Amino acid sequence: MSESAEHHGRCLCGAVRVTVTGALGNISACHCDMCKRWSGSIFMGIEVDRGRVKISGPVKTYQSSPFAARGWCELCGSALWFGDTEGRHGDVLELAPGLFDNAGGARLTREVYADRCPEGYALAGDHQRVSRAEYEAENKFVEDAG
Ligand SMILES: [Zn+2]
Ligand SMILES: [Zn+2]
Repeated sequence: MSESAEHHGRCLCGAVRVTVTGALGNISACHCDMCKRWSGSIFMGIEVDRGRVKISGPVKTYQSSPFAARGWCELCGSALWFGDTEGRHGDVLELAPGLFDNAGGARLTREVYADRCPEGYALAGDHQRVSRAEYEAENKFVEDAG
């Protein structure tokens, strides 16, 4: 994969187009309660600097916490991205791998809230697994509603 490559992705209906200039980052998966509800199960994101991402089409956003937002296609509902809106990760978007054929060739390297994965499924492989306590010691997080 060349550093100068462009990666083209799209939502289910095709109204939203995503172009990334340069290499895609790694995939991280999240089992926090917000990602579970928003994605329907596990949210995965490919980390890319915002400045290298162009998105066109009917994108809606939801400010899911005081420091982070999520984007989706208004027409078909496809999840597009998650991203912090401030702080040290504010320049990064986590793009949904499914926007790209073969997930853009990106690999899963990190699973956060790994100890919060429901009992009924699991992600195989020897990627890094970060517990809720480990994650929350170093990152902003949202308290459980309940
Ligand atoms: Zn769409
Ligand atoms: Zn999450």
